[in-house]
Amino acid sequence: MIDAATLARNPALLKLDLYCKGARLDASCFIEGDGGRKVLRTRAGLGSGLELVLPGGLWTNVPVTEPFAARSPYVLHRVQGSYVLRHGGRDLAPVTLSPRPAWYDDTTAAGKPMTRIGTLQGTYLGIYQAKVCEYWTARPQKVNCKFCSVGLNLGVDDADEKSVAEVMEVVRRARDESGITYVDFNTGHYDGDTYLDILEPYLVRIKKELGLLVGFQTPPHRDLRRYDRLREMGLNRVSFCFEIFDRETFKEVCPGKDAEYGLDYYLEAVRYCAALGKKGPRHEPWVTNGEIIAGLEPAESSMRAIDWITSVGAIPTVCVFRPLVGTDLEHAEPPSTEDMVPVFRRLYEACMERGLPIGCAPNVHVSLVMLPEECRTLTARRFPLQVMKLKAMAGIFGYRFRRRLRGALGH
Ligand code: SF4
Repeated sequence: MIDAATLARNPALLKLDLYCKGARLDASCFIEGDGGRKVLRTRAGLGSGLELVLPGGLWTNVPVTEPFAARSPYVLHRVQGSYVLRHGGRDLAPVTLSPRPAWYDDTTAAGKPMTRIGTLQGTYLGIYQAKVCEYWTARPQKVNCKFCSVGLNLGVDDADEKSVAEVMEVVRRARDESGITYVDFNTGHYDGDTYLDILEPYLVRIKKELGLLVGFQTPPHRDLRRYDRLREMGLNRVSFCFEIFDRETFKEVCPGKDAEYGLDYYLEAVRYCAALGKKGPRHEPWVTNGEIIAGLEPAESSMRAIDWITSVGAIPTVCVFRPLVGTDLEHAEPPSTEDMVPVFRRLYEACMERGLPIGCAPNVHVSLVMLPEECRTLTARRFPLQVMKLKAMAGIFGYRFRRRLRGALGH
């Protein structure tokens, strides 16, 4: 068990420990009344928790509704209008509630609650587009990923039909009032590989009209050349969630992905798209992510996945497994922080060793995962030259982004 003094000194370790243990809410908390965000059950289930900002400006999403959180040593208290995280009954760290924007309580022109179109995940806007993933409706037996709650969530907090006009309306409000810089679309699997056809009209409109960074996460399309076109159009990020690197565990936990595409095809798509960074418009950054869930396979296997992803020039997105209520894995235990530390340490080190562009996007704070750059305090290794290079890149990205945004705003 990591002691409280170490957790108080190291916000990255605290963020990780909270993912693994969750927190309890003291009766003094008044989350929505104090301008915080309601706990929403959205987005492949990872966003089931309370959105908070930890010391050091680390945005996070803390599990509070799962049974394991009821045993947590962390309790959130409200003291004279401010929030403090206590650990084992003693004050550990002051925290702030991630602010709930005014548009969260508003509806679109068509009368739909705006949070059913998109929600903030940290400081970016996440949109789960289109109908439920078809692994959930497969017959004779559903073949959904066992950790996933999308089939439980849709129609609860996420609307299923979202017109381009509605999405544009919400993205504009989020840009103008919440200062978002990035919009992320996410779909499940649809027969006939229609997900890119469904997403393209949204991606193109946002990219052309709003000056924001735009990315998407879908299964790997069978025609990989489709990604050349999306890169050419100026899109900024593509993410492939293969979740698990160990082949047997992949088959068992992700039966639909295994039968439909297979792990090798996911890896091929990551490799192909990472290579597109050298093509396409030079003024538009391009990042390929390979996404995995740590805690569903041995830590060594997650670290092998990180090494493989970075070896092809992609950046790993590493989630911490959260056994969500109602899912096939709801009775599984979350991983231990001690097992997770080497994984996230490797995440930072591998990105720095390969010279990958981490932490360069302006104002993108992610609550659902530990970003690679957030993990730097988990290692004693220092990469001074790479840090200097990344600072320079962030400065250039930021300058170009602000200039384009001013153009889109007409001033
Ligand atoms: S592909 Fe798997 S994780 Fe993604 S929505 Fe479908 S069942 Fe859920």
